[in-house]
Amino acid sequence: KVRVRFAPSPTGPLHIGGVRTALFNYLFAQKHGGDFILRIEDTDQNRYVQGAEDYIVKSLAWCGIPFDEGPGNPGESGPYRQSERKDVYQQYASTLIDKGEAYYAFDTPDELDAHRKQHESKGKTFIYNWHNRLKLNNSLNLSKEATQIKIASGHPFVIRFKSPQDQKMQLKDMVRGNIDIDTNVLDDKILFKGDGMPTYHLANVVDDHLMGITHVIRGEEWLPSLALHHLLYDAFGWDRPKFAHLPLIMKPTGKGKLSKRDGEKGGFPVFPLAWNEAQGYREAGYFPEAVVNFLAMLGWNPGTEQELFSLDELVQSFSLERVNKSGARFDPEKTKWYNHHWLQRKSDSELANLFAEDNKLTSIEKTFHKPYIEKVISLIKERANFVVDFWELGNYFFEAPRTYAEKPVNKQWKQDTPNILNNVAKVIDSTDDFTSATLETNIKNWITDNDLSFGKVMGPLRLVIVGDLKGPHLFDILETIGKEECLNRIAHSIN
Ligand code: GLU
Repeated sequence: KVRVRFAPSPTGPLHIGGVRTALFNYLFAQKHGGDFILRIEDTDQNRYVQGAEDYIVKSLAWCGIPFDEGPGNPGESGPYRQSERKDVYQQYASTLIDKGEAYYAFDTPDELDAHRKQHESKGKTFIYNWHNRLKLNNSLNLSKEATQIKIASGHPFVIRFKSPQDQKMQLKDMVRGNIDIDTNVLDDKILFKGDGMPTYHLANVVDDHLMGITHVIRGEEWLPSLALHHLLYDAFGWDRPKFAHLPLIMKPTGKGKLSKRDGEKGGFPVFPLAWNEAQGYREAGYFPEAVVNFLAMLGWNPGTEQELFSLDELVQSFSLERVNKSGARFDPEKTKWYNHHWLQRKSDSELANLFAEDNKLTSIEKTFHKPYIEKVISLIKERANFVVDFWELGNYFFEAPRTYAEKPVNKQWKQDTPNILNNVAKVIDSTDDFTSATLETNIKNWITDNDLSFGKVMGPLRLVIVGDLKGPHLFDILETIGKEECLNRIAHSIN
């Protein structure tokens, strides 16, 4: 059975890159009838941020990508917070020592610094590995007894992986294909720290194994760790899961990885939900469907022209084979495009409820019934990207314009305009079947009968009804606001 996991570190708010990783894992699990697990990788106590785990859980819920197992939703392979699994890692670190695959290292930070400087002075980089490990302060150079005494006396230590010498490896990645590696370039990474906590590498591999993970789908920034992870599976004698590294999400300029800063500079969210000062996609008025949709298209393509996908459709179409190798450029304008289209897919009733949550509306809401608000929305939503655009696009449905846009007034308002509008008012007044179609017929007939041009009538009429030369079909507006309001607005403009 397919089992995948999303394994964020609670070091801050989940950014959209993280959500994308979670989404691809979720899609893959759904597609294969598998399990999607949330594992909190909180072994780095210095970087732990209060509230981050809660934020991650809430973000996934808002996006509509629930996990099958995780904190608060236990399955058989819990606990799902690494800080609650400490003993497990200790035991596996010892196993590696016993197998001769890892060793204790006692080098102090100062000693390591000195080595680094010494190498640098010769124009070399210091790598802790086969090259020099036999000259350094570690258990490979001590007897078993001496090592035990050192540890028992409380000497600080770490456990390092003994990476192999002179081996050619071939790593397999479902996105990148085969990657050749010479183990001589690898360093002896720290697996276990003096504070009794494992590092990411050990905890990650041990947990993926114990949790029965079949596919590791994660960001490309972890590709450099893949060789070590391969070697760790081999060292333990475990079967390896399959790996898929997702391409980076790039800045709108295409140069460099998208960062929190880019959002601040460009005025667009990079988080699903608000975090401190930064507003999230939710607060910016995005629908979760739109966020999921645009995230799916960052690094994956369906191989067709289709761009709009519901979560269900994504599950149907998704495959790791169609994940791109190259970085995915983030385009904030395109995210609005997605929201625009998702807004069109919402029912007018749902949109009316959302619009009513808007402050501007609450005061006038009482005067207007929901069917009226729905009608307005049906007329204006085509031009909206967000629910907050509704007011700007349709305020004149709720209150008469207080001013008229200057430019069109100068252009459209002629000496005979008041007289023309006065007559149009009469036509409107005598229209009993107050529908858009009948109004259109009556007003257009009146224009032709009087040998007037449409421009002379329709421009000023729109101006006094809407306040500007914008908005949907004018006769639809007339019908919606009703006879009395039409007559009032015309009268107001010519008196
Ligand atoms: N804890 C790592 C992170 O924060 C997980 C990487 C992985 O999925 O292996 O990205």
